[in-house]
Amino acid sequence: MQQITILGSTGSIGVQTLDVIRSNPDRYRAAYLTSNVNIDRLERQVAEFAPDGVVVSDPEQAAEARRRFGDRVEVLEGDEALASVAADPAVDIVMSALVGFAGLQPTIAAVRAGKRVALANKETMVVAGELINRLRAEHGATIIPVDSEHSAIFQCLVGEEPSSIGRLVLTASGGPFRELPAESFGAITAIEALRHPNWSMGPKITIDSATLMNKGLEVIEARWLFDIGAERVDVVVHPQSIIHSMVEFVDGSVKAQLGLPDMRLPIQYAMAYPERIAASYGRLDLASVGTLSFFEPDTERFPALRLAYAALERGGTAPSVLNAANEIAVAAFLAEEIAFPQISALIERALSEASIAEDPSLVNILEADKRTREAVRSYLGSRSFTPPS
Ligand code: NAD
Ligand code: MG
Repeated sequence: MQQITILGSTGSIGVQTLDVIRSNPDRYRAAYLTSNVNIDRLERQVAEFAPDGVVVSDPEQAAEARRRFGDRVEVLEGDEALASVAADPAVDIVMSALVGFAGLQPTIAAVRAGKRVALANKETMVVAGELINRLRAEHGATIIPVDSEHSAIFQCLVGEEPSSIGRLVLTASGGPFRELPAESFGAITAIEALRHPNWSMGPKITIDSATLMNKGLEVIEARWLFDIGAERVDVVVHPQSIIHSMVEFVDGSVKAQLGLPDMRLPIQYAMAYPERIAASYGRLDLASVGTLSFFEPDTERFPALRLAYAALERGGTAPSVLNAANEIAVAAFLAEEIAFPQISALIERALSEASIAEDPSLVNILEADKRTREAVRSYLGSRSFTPPS
């Protein structure tokens, strides 16, 4: 029986991970669950999965959780508790599925403890890819990607030598505004941007998909996960989201991984690798899909992708600046404080004004994150960013 900690069990990836556990009760058990504030959902998860403990990050919600179900399960709180359930000796697999920079430190704790880490939290590799790679080698941890593109590439690389890789091709759906003319971007509402054509995901990654920052973050994630130069990581827009990504080898052969857009597949692959587990979700019927189409990404309308490549090329803490600025800008857009194009504009300004630390330590990364958040909040308070009308 494999014991699993799910960091972020109440989120989109967390709920689907529990679905995989529910379907495979003889293989997997949920040992620890964690949530930021959503204790209603956490209470239902505790009732169904009877974990050994839960972490509620928000102190007030943790107190409320203790009142409501503290007699049934130990309720821990705070950042150290997240790290401790990620590193618990009884745990075999850590599903890293917090959203954003908050996922970094508990993921580091899991890597330091030598766990198998099923990595959904891409922001960890974006801000600290080099550090994570060093720690994973030092502590013998295994990182298996959950992000569908990186899972696809990982699957294409099974049995291949790293020296055979020519380039990686990440597919992007293009998001809900793929065909929208540039002059309409200023009027995009949060509700429109939250309507992803193919995937149902948490709000932050859904906005990232609409700006194409999600693909930018994934290029950086791929650079570190597969230890490959950014000039060999390409992006192609593929609106049907059937090909999840591809690898071109040095002989010109291209391998792709296909499937219906359902995150349970990469989630259970990361848990079961090198095995595959039979699953009852839908099957791909290519004749009913009919057409697979491909386009160049448009970095004029979607500058976030260009900004991500630039931050990766700049190196050091530049990807941390990119990530932190994006998190603040996305939250501001969701709160209807800024217009859609201002998300990228804020990130561009943060990158141009930040001082970048080379060869960053964890302390440098934490500092860059904190300073960038403060800087972008100050831009938001200034007159240069007027709220959308
Ligand atoms: P989500 O918003 O649905 O869930 C996030 C989870 O993290 C929740 O359980 C929440 O309680 C917890 N959380 C949020 N902020 C926290 C904080 N400050 N401290 C502690 N806990 C906190 O997000 P999601 O869509 O499940 O995405 C999770 C991660 O997986 C992201 O990094 C995302 O980019 C990545 N990812 C998601 C999908 C998807 O289909 N949803 C696909 C690929 C990659
Ligand atoms: Mg993805």
